[in-house]
Amino acid sequence: MSIKVEIISGLGEKAPAAILIHAHGRRLLLDAGGPMQPDEPCDWYLGLGLAQGQDQSIDAILISHDHVDHIGSVRWLPDYIPLYCTAQVARSLPSGRLWHPLPTRGEIEIEGVRITCGQAGHSLGGLWLHLDLAGGIFYSGDFSTESLLYPFDQPPPADLALLDASYGTYDTDQTECRQALLERLTGPTLIPTLLPVPPSGRALELALWCQAQQIEWALDPVCEGFMQALLQLSPDLLLPGVQTQLSQLTPIPWHARESDHPRLIRLAANANGIGGESGRLIEDESYTGQVIYTGYTPAKARADIAAGRAKWLRWNVHPRLSDLQNLADDLSASQVIPLFCSMQQTERWKKAFGERFIYESALHL
Ligand SMILES: [Zn+2]
Repeated sequence: MSIKVEIISGLGEKAPAAILIHAHGRRLLLDAGGPMQPDEPCDWYLGLGLAQGQDQSIDAILISHDHVDHIGSVRWLPDYIPLYCTAQVARSLPSGRLWHPLPTRGEIEIEGVRITCGQAGHSLGGLWLHLDLAGGIFYSGDFSTESLLYPFDQPPPADLALLDASYGTYDTDQTECRQALLERLTGPTLIPTLLPVPPSGRALELALWCQAQQIEWALDPVCEGFMQALLQLSPDLLLPGVQTQLSQLTPIPWHARESDHPRLIRLAANANGIGGESGRLIEDESYTGQVIYTGYTPAKARADIAAGRAKWLRWNVHPRLSDLQNLADDLSASQVIPLFCSMQQTERWKKAFGERFIYESALHL
């Protein structure tokens, strides 16, 4: 029986992730992404025939990781559909939602399909998924090979690679990003800095990095809570030695004053500069530090940057073009579909992947 891959959402734009795999009369939904911002439209799940009892209902939902653009629409999908994710990701499910465990590494059979899972190097408990269908279907979720915290596991071969390409054809190494940030943090003028960050990932990467650079830094209580949680984790979910490094960090207390620490780097949630300690400081006119966003920039952050109130310097948490090429080679993929980015640069994608580059929302294998 033929296998069909249907990219319902996430092709040709940075959009919620939703990929439907039709196999042997079964339908597996890979990710159920929600809108990046509450006011953005998100209706990919309409028209799927999800009313209970309909023949075309989805047989299983698999969630790669707990970011809103991969998990945020679970709340709109019927509870009777079995859902699979890791224990770390399950914490972000709607209250009371039942779930089945995916292995953090290893194999599981779901609806007659053998699925291999591995760490994706992007978030706590986040996975890539490999489906043993039609020569192998690999879905990366979001991934990175440059994380200071999380490992990226090598997947088995796959004919078809569905890859996170959130940065498009961007190809700057993290070492260059760090150098640009370092110059901004340690310029000739003594100036403190606020870095709005997501607490489970970039906050702690930046903490490790600031410590290594011998820059004074402080962690807000929310980020501090995540650091304590990482110290309790099974060590194999983190890169070797990370828990030891985290346990040896020496932050400046959050309540310290800039008058005593004129170059203090504050790492604070929320990453978008709305709410949390970062939102409070941005609104606080007595705070004189520079604000630097390092990730996805929603409207509020873009407005801050446009008005000169903030800067933006990328800290890689998604793959570079060379990562995508290396991964496609390692998979021996004959077809590569870049996801979660604009396809305006079609020629560059063709140049990068040649005949392997595919830009189709539905594929029969
Ligand atoms: Zn993500």
